[in-house]
Amino acid sequence: MTHEYDVVIAGAGPAGSAAAAVLAGRGLSVALLDRRDFPRNKLCGGLLTWKTRQILERVFGPGVLDGVADHASDRYEIFHWDRLLAAGRSPEPFVLVKRRVLDLRLLELARARGAAFFPGRTVAECRPERGELATAGGEVFRGRYVIGADGAGSVVRKCLGADREAWRKGLAGALEVFLPREAVPGAVDHPRLYAGCVDKGYGWVFPNSDGVVVGLCGLLRSGSDFPQLLRKFLDFLQISDAVRPRPHGHPLPYGNHLKTPYGGRALLAGDAGGFVEPLLGEGIFYALTTGRYAAEAVLEALDHGGEPGPAYARRIRRVLVPEFRAADTLRWTLFALLRGVGPGLMGGAVRLFSGPLVQAVHGLRSYRFLLPKTWD
Ligand SMILES: Cc1cc2nc3c(=O)[nH]c(=O)nc-3n(C[C@H](O)[C@H](O)[C@H](O)COP(=O)(O)OP(=O)(O)OC[C@H]3O[C@@H](n4cnc5c(N)ncnc54)[C@H](O)[C@@H]3O)c2cc1C
Repeated sequence: MTHEYDVVIAGAGPAGSAAAAVLAGRGLSVALLDRRDFPRNKLCGGLLTWKTRQILERVFGPGVLDGVADHASDRYEIFHWDRLLAAGRSPEPFVLVKRRVLDLRLLELARARGAAFFPGRTVAECRPERGELATAGGEVFRGRYVIGADGAGSVVRKCLGADREAWRKGLAGALEVFLPREAVPGAVDHPRLYAGCVDKGYGWVFPNSDGVVVGLCGLLRSGSDFPQLLRKFLDFLQISDAVRPRPHGHPLPYGNHLKTPYGGRALLAGDAGGFVEPLLGEGIFYALTTGRYAAEAVLEALDHGGEPGPAYARRIRRVLVPEFRAADTLRWTLFALLRGVGPGLMGGAVRLFSGPLVQAVHGLRSYRFLLPKTWD
């Protein structure tokens, strides 16, 4: 059975729903396929920065987070194990959400604009030259264009023949547990980051309304035993064995964005294209932004002719890649400082620049020389 649409999208996470909302909002027929039905869980810290809230409102309209924002705090702390390296107030609050709730809201808003949602459709193959997605159930969805927003394990990316070796080199493993608040001694109301608990990565403790998310991530090529590192981190946080749920893991692109995120009539957005900032692993903003850019490149091609892929890649190179590069340089500098001179001096450097650094995390400044940043 073949379904025909203007645009077919694999994956209904933030990247897919953002692309669908923009395209359907302009009157195009859009099919949004996901292997799961919604609401569905997605492993994530659920931390939204200022720039994420801006893009959410821009794409989905004001009030998008009403009833979705779960917790907020303008405070933060950064530790090396039990040593406090930096703490302070942020110019904008960090907002915490549950992805189960956020992703459902975004999908509902895309559907309200006319996107057709097909749950339970596992994309098994993409034929980029024909603009087709074939599902494991034998259906074919054909569009004038395809957007691959099917996450870190993207089938669309694999069908475009992306370099698997380069992809694996920049891939991180991430593990998380969700705990009731009373299970975490001294649990606080603001996000805490921990250096030192993972080689080439970090740990986090994020509060929300009814619990605490504890997790860590690090580059897979470090060869670390992540479950063992998480156990050690939970021991350090004095979380009793009796209340520890089984951790869940998920791959996280961590410095491996694709230079050519397109092929044939297909464009890759979000984790599928590796669009995650490589210092903290922030990905929701980049998923929404590349979903929007992909949709706008398609609209431009339909209105004025030409291929959307090169224009899409140019925009990413101009606006996002400088941030990824600078964040990458910063993380390797911090890892080297930690290894070379220890947490004391590394903490001193973080403390010295903590104000502009926090602004860079929110997107009020660029990671490039911590200069003021404007997004397009
Ligand atoms: C442990 C962890 C913590 C994180 N914490 C944060 C954080 O606090 N803040 C932040 O900004 N970012 C965080 N991130 C990153 C963030 O979760 C991702 O960057 C973001 O979810 C990417 O959105 P996406 O739409 O590209 O992909 P996803 O959110 O992964 O959505 C992809 C969708 O595609 C579907 N799909 C996958 N394969 C197929 C298929 N074959 N066929 C059909 N559908 C398919 C999936 O079911 C899913 O719904 C974290 C990541 C991890 C792993």
